[in-house]
Amino acid sequence: MKPGSKLIFLNTVFFISLFLNQSLLANETKKRVLVLHAYHQGFHWTDRIMAGIKSVFDEQNDIELFINYMDTKRRSGPFYFKQLRDLYATKYQFVKFDAIISSDDHALDFLLKYRDDLFPETPVIFSGLNAFSQDRLQGQKNFTGVYESYDVAGTIELMLKLHPGTKTINAITDETRSGYIFKKLIEKAEQKFANQVNINYMHNLTPEELQRSLTNLSENTLVLWAIYLRTPSGTTLSSEESVRLVSEASQFPTYCVWDVVGQGVVGGKITSPNYQGETAAKIALNILQGQSIESIPVTGSPLINIFDFNVMQRFQLSAEKIPRPYIILNRPKSFYEQYKSYILIYSAITLLLVTTIIFLVTTMLLKRKRDKYEGMAMHDQLTGLYNRYYLQEMASHKLSEANRHQTSLCLLVLDLDHFKTINDTHGHPVGDIVLQKLAKLLNEQNRFEDVIARIGGEEFVILLDHCNAEEAEEKAQSIRKMVEALKPNGIAVTISIGIAQLAPDGETFEQLLKRADEAVYQAKSLGRNRVVCVNSTKASSA
Ligand code: GH3
Ligand code: MG
Ligand code: MG
Repeated sequence: MKPGSKLIFLNTVFFISLFLNQSLLANETKKRVLVLHAYHQGFHWTDRIMAGIKSVFDEQNDIELFINYMDTKRRSGPFYFKQLRDLYATKYQFVKFDAIISSDDHALDFLLKYRDDLFPETPVIFSGLNAFSQDRLQGQKNFTGVYESYDVAGTIELMLKLHPGTKTINAITDETRSGYIFKKLIEKAEQKFANQVNINYMHNLTPEELQRSLTNLSENTLVLWAIYLRTPSGTTLSSEESVRLVSEASQFPTYCVWDVVGQGVVGGKITSPNYQGETAAKIALNILQGQSIESIPVTGSPLINIFDFNVMQRFQLSAEKIPRPYIILNRPKSFYEQYKSYILIYSAITLLLVTTIIFLVTTMLLKRKRDKYEGMAMHDQLTGLYNRYYLQEMASHKLSEANRHQTSLCLLVLDLDHFKTINDTHGHPVGDIVLQKLAKLLNEQNRFEDVIARIGGEEFVILLDHCNAEEAEEKAQSIRKMVEALKPNGIAVTISIGIAQLAPDGETFEQLLKRADEAVYQAKSLGRNRVVCVNSTKASSA
């Protein structure tokens, strides 16, 4: 290997190892969070808690999530917990967690029992509990979280508000721990609504019994799906299966007290599992960022009216009746919501185009105005020819050019003969027309580089550069003849022209103009309608 290539090779190796070290270091500095779900993946409630957790951590690159599902809907009990303990002990022997987020009761129970053994002192943030009492954390350190608040009475009130003629509410509960809690809460609420509605308890029925009862319901009836996830024979049902079983059997609206909206119930005053996951994750984040867990109290999650648009349609329920705040799932998006990004892009483009057009039009109008004023400053109003001011500007420029390059330049002064008589005879306005027609003729005879100006009432000047006295005289004669033939408004008009050629000794414009003026004077005194060139001092006539 050549010494140069060797150096490049060593450099490359150095940078690659530096990069690898950096990535390993980044991995080392990542915070680790264990997420322990009591239930399984695919369980609606758990999935939505997880979605809430992810909504917070997805934006954090320096946090690594370790997600575990305990699957306690299928198996639970001390023996199973012990086996899980052993599994996690092996699995995470070499992993130190910075925080643990748990969802639902079994996960919290497990951690209350084994956290100190498996993950000593690691802060635990629980979520998804459907009942919480502070006694549960007795003697424990570094536990906080969010529990699910219920408002069974609030949901019954909501049901009666939306269906005023209701006589009976059929409350469905099962024999699980949650089932009993809900049944108790319903019994408590029953007293509150004793004068308004009867509660018919459908507690711990078999699916067949439940379906039969629901099919035979009489008018003015509602169903309250509190919880029905385990049948008397011990079979577990997913919330989807259970809600479907109920909503298919009943021709009356079904409400819920915890979040199964979207699976067939109309809605309820409930808390969202997403919100619980999100809240737990935010608490974890604060702890990871240094907040002390002791300073974070256990809180209940807020409740909101959540409804399913599809089921609302089935029972012809209008959103206007639902007390705010509310969320309506499956609501078809408005045109704006559907095409929001397109609308925003098009609006931005349109705004840009309109602004550009306004800018361009304003600039154009301003330019036109400026051109007009500039034009007015340079041009004679009556004839449109250049004025004396512009002539002087151009002349000084052309004279210095001619002097520098030693090129010939001639100045013609043209004065209408007896113009006063024309005015006197035909009137001043006709005199104006004569001046305009003459100006037009001069303009038509003009080369691009010639400057024609009106410098007095009936006096004009033509500045011809790259033109000697002979050529100027020839041109002057031609103009004189054309003026004679012009007969504007049928009036015979003649013109006297004086020519002066720029002297090569640095003559000024004033001097040149004075000599051309003298030439006109000579032409006048020689009888008018003629051309006099002062250089040659000879006068020529028609
Ligand atoms: P000459 O042959 O010696 O040049 O005689 P003239 O009558 O042409 O010269 P004079 O200087 O005596 O008169 C010029 C006249 O031009 C006087 C004035 O009323 C007229 N005049 C000047 N400006 C205008 C104008 O803008 N419109 C009209 N219609 N007449 C003008
Ligand atoms: Mg005059
Ligand atoms: Mg005149």
